[in-house]
Amino acid sequence: MTQHNETWNILVVDDEENIRLAIERILNKIGCQVFKAADGHEALQVVESKEMALIILDLKMPGMDGLEVQRRIREIDENVLVIIITGYATIETAIEAMRQGAYDFIPKPFETDHLRFVVRRALKIFDLQREREHLEEERRKTLFDLSTEKSRTRTIMEALPNGVMVTNHQGQIVLMNQAVKDQFDLNDNCSIGNYIQDYIEDPGLCNFVQQTIQQAGCQSDEIPNYELEGANDTYLLVEARPILGEEGNYLGSVFIFVDISAIKQLDLLKSEFVAKVSHELRSPLSTIHEQMALVIQDMLEQASSGRDHQILSRAQEKTKGLISLVEDLLDLSRLEAGAAFHEIQPVKIDVLLDEIVQSLESQAQHNRQNLKLTKKEREYPPVEADKKALESIFNNLIGNALKYTPEGGDIEVILQTLADGLEIKVQDNGFGISEQDQERIFERFYRVKDDKTRFIGGTGLGLPIVKGILDDLNGSISVESELDKGSTFIVKLPAEDKLT
Ligand code: ADP
Repeated sequence: MTQHNETWNILVVDDEENIRLAIERILNKIGCQVFKAADGHEALQVVESKEMALIILDLKMPGMDGLEVQRRIREIDENVLVIIITGYATIETAIEAMRQGAYDFIPKPFETDHLRFVVRRALKIFDLQREREHLEEERRKTLFDLSTEKSRTRTIMEALPNGVMVTNHQGQIVLMNQAVKDQFDLNDNCSIGNYIQDYIEDPGLCNFVQQTIQQAGCQSDEIPNYELEGANDTYLLVEARPILGEEGNYLGSVFIFVDISAIKQLDLLKSEFVAKVSHELRSPLSTIHEQMALVIQDMLEQASSGRDHQILSRAQEKTKGLISLVEDLLDLSRLEAGAAFHEIQPVKIDVLLDEIVQSLESQAQHNRQNLKLTKKEREYPPVEADKKALESIFNNLIGNALKYTPEGGDIEVILQTLADGLEIKVQDNGFGISEQDQERIFERFYRVKDDKTRFIGGTGLGLPIVKGILDDLNGSISVESELDKGSTFIVKLPAEDKLT
């Protein structure tokens, strides 16, 4: 028999006292608490006041007979188990009692063992019934908790100021909160289940969602993001996170839309401020620089004090540094404002590189460096770009190669045609760049500071400018370098099909 922590309440209803007492004795021994009733009325009172596991009921009693008592008990507790006992055991009474819902039937006089057996079997049923009710209650509670949790989550999602959108593994939208609908002026009642392009007309965003699905399996700490314009002149930043199942299978993605209009506005103000200040500084600085050059020239001619000359030369050097900072800042502002490309025209890259290498030749000679341009082919297709922007790229890269290569080093610029454009390598055998620094040199103002480069002037803006221009040109830049061996910067540029 199953372990039972409580005792079972059993009611014995019989008009014969000795039978009631005999049953009580037998059942006490198997852990039951026995209640006794001499007739139907007493029995009903007990059932009303206490829950019974089982009722043992005599069929033949004076007054209310057993079948009537059973019927009235059922009105109070419809599930209670009833075992009928009677001295007039006939098949008909047994069938009638069972038909009216009795669980079992014992003829009088009964054997102790038989009574115990029948009672135990009934109690097992009672326990199972209890267990089932308990489980049912638990299930009801869990379902209730779940639905409360669901509505709580929905309320939180709807109240979020940021847009939240969830797609399934095929890219169909399965959830979209109110903020997304507001950000894109979508109908409040628009139904979900379609693809992103059915809601938001932005090819870039569609690509972004597509890429998120394709790259879902790739482990990366970086959160992919994309910027786009929302409704009412807003700027939004979308960040994506894949949702993976327990076995790492892709289930879908969550997209968060953050309104960055204020940051964009601030960024614009900052750029305008930097551009304005740089512009205002450029001409006075150039004048100071030129006038210092004149004074230094005079000093040299008059062979005046070496110390004054030294001080002025250092000041002139610093002014030169300031001028190049101002020029870099202006280049950056132009790039940010999208004004870096005034005059798009077909540019002959081989001619342009020739000119730049020639213009830097004197600097190379001064450092006793060997600077050369190698052209792998005789003719090259033209590059559609602003010539000044291209000049800026290669002046920066070749200038850096000269700066960060010690005296006597070799710098080679190699131009060649690729299947899908042009490749220009700027290669030196100079100081080289550590792997750690290679990851950061394209960041604004980042400069490598070690014993060799500490005293070399610069702004840390050259490479970010180069990268910015190349991004706008749909080109690319990468670096291969080893410390103390040298560096190679590899530029790829899209080119026209036709040759020049
Ligand atoms: P700047 O030269 O004004 O410092 P850049 O943005 O052009 O700024 O370069 C960033 C940093 O990258 C430099 O400070 C330098 O440490 C490193 N670097 C760039 N080109 C080379 C090169 N050819 N060889 C070694 N280091 C280089």
